[in-house]
Amino acid sequence: MIRSTLYNKFFFLLTFFIGFSSLHSQKKFTLVLDAGHGGSDIGANRNYSDIGSVQEKNVTLGIVLKLGRMLEKNKDYKVIYTRKIDEYPSLTYRTDLANRSKADLFISVHVNSSPSKSATAQGTETFVQGPNQNRANLDVAKAENDVIFLDERDKENFASYNPSSPESLIALKIQQSKYLEASLIIGGMVEDNFVKKDKRLSRGVKQENLHVLRMNAMPSILIETGFVNNYDDAHYISTEDGQQAIAESIYNAIVNYKKLVDRNVKEPEPEKPVEQPLKNDFRILLMSTPNKYNDQDPALKGLKYILPIKENGAYKYYYGTTNYASVRDTNLKTAKDAGFRNSMAISFVPNQALGTGYYTLEIYTGKDKLDSKSMILKMIPDIIRNKENGVFYYTFGKYKTLEDAIKAQKELDGKGIKNTIIEKRLK
Ligand SMILES: [Zn+2]
Repeated sequence: MIRSTLYNKFFFLLTFFIGFSSLHSQKKFTLVLDAGHGGSDIGANRNYSDIGSVQEKNVTLGIVLKLGRMLEKNKDYKVIYTRKIDEYPSLTYRTDLANRSKADLFISVHVNSSPSKSATAQGTETFVQGPNQNRANLDVAKAENDVIFLDERDKENFASYNPSSPESLIALKIQQSKYLEASLIIGGMVEDNFVKKDKRLSRGVKQENLHVLRMNAMPSILIETGFVNNYDDAHYISTEDGQQAIAESIYNAIVNYKKLVDRNVKEPEPEKPVEQPLKNDFRILLMSTPNKYNDQDPALKGLKYILPIKENGAYKYYYGTTNYASVRDTNLKTAKDAGFRNSMAISFVPNQALGTGYYTLEIYTGKDKLDSKSMILKMIPDIIRNKENGVFYYTFGKYKTLEDAIKAQKELDGKGIKNTIIEKRLK
């Protein structure tokens, strides 16, 4: 139900993202190169009297094969192609391949065309995941647990990982925004090279809702290398020299991007003082209500590690336990993000004995008395029964500290008596 696993869980989520890139750096930097279109899907095309038919599928393959050849000479890179010949792999195949390969970077190469027959549009542009795609992207990341699990160890650690819990969602959201940030960086490098090295006209880096970008769980860019219906562009992208120059610009951007990633991994974080634990424990009070909910109740909005404590007839639902300020703040944010807008952090003195009163365990409440043959009565013969406003309350035990009560509650839980509630009685 709660508590002891909390530290592990949260620290794991935190260290997971710090460790994410370093795990990557130990293996080869994996790239998926995607030559747009292919086979019966010709893509953008145009016939010219002097240079003949310029077809997107041929241009993209030409550039990708040249780029791949350069990368393959460098043993730091592992290159995976979505196609190496004139065939048409589906878009789903392309993104599945990238996700399964746990690629570090996905690069899709395309050729542009503008709607008007008189081609005034010219130059290159690079697309990254659109601004409103986080939802779809997140769903992919959730579905692609294999992508998120980098190795067997992660899988073990994430054995209880629940993709729809708010804790995991927040972690995934952080990951998504990192992918977008990384995509913007590599996209900017590519366009920069087109301008500075190749003297091309750049239309910049843009966000758009495109399948190959939306469905990928890694930094991804889609490069439009020129307009097929602009004569100068068409000429450039259909020649060996033009394709080679484009491939080199992308190659240089990849090399620089990898350097940046490696530097981020290797450079030690600037001296951060180790966080000292606080004297008190902190739990997030989600709500105080006369209603009794069990773990799975929708009212708890999917949050786990809930500790209800009954006080003066009201049930107070607390989320998480920590004596670290950073975790307390994260827990509070998680609670608010989950919809408990008025939640607040409450401080508890650890192992504090109540001056007057005691803690007890509410084992069962109901309009009817427990049957004399019930398991609860058999297991706890000295259970105490009270009747209040027509409801029977069965309680058990007297504990001086909250920790003792939690321990007793856990023992009962282990024996099969679930959903008991700790009650604080001040007299
Ligand atoms: Zn295309």
